[in-house]
Amino acid sequence: MSEKTIFRRIIDKEIPADVLYEDDVCLAFRDISPQAPTHVLVIPKKEIVSVATIADEDQALIGHLYLVIRNLANELGLGNGYRVVVNCGPDGGQAVDHLHFHLLGGRQLKWPPG
Ligand code: AMP
Repeated sequence: MSEKTIFRRIIDKEIPADVLYEDDVCLAFRDISPQAPTHVLVIPKKEIVSVATIADEDQALIGHLYLVIRNLANELGLGNGYRVVVNCGPDGGQAVDHLHFHLLGGRQLKWPPG
């Protein structure tokens, strides 16, 4: 069996994280290396490697993750705007092979990204 990702270990409570929200299907926690004053990761508990391997049956789950992101952004005071980023695969700069949504805010974000 392949080794657990760092995010699976966080889901399984094997390593600590600054968790902001959790329900049956997802978890949100602060990024350990924040790239903005607010930098939260929202992940499904289901084993999904990346956007490229989202299944048709995951449609409701992905929609749910966006509602969680919306709620967190409101709770964290990001009323002036924020960015949701999902890196996919090597060219996309994905470092952890467990689907995750970056919620970034609290400063003016530049465009385009590098
Ligand atoms: P990506 O490059 O899109 O795969 O993003 C992976 C993110 O996970 C990076 O922003 C890391 O800083 C973050 N990260 C890695 N390990 C941890 C951890 N133990 N707790 C919280 N965030 C982490």
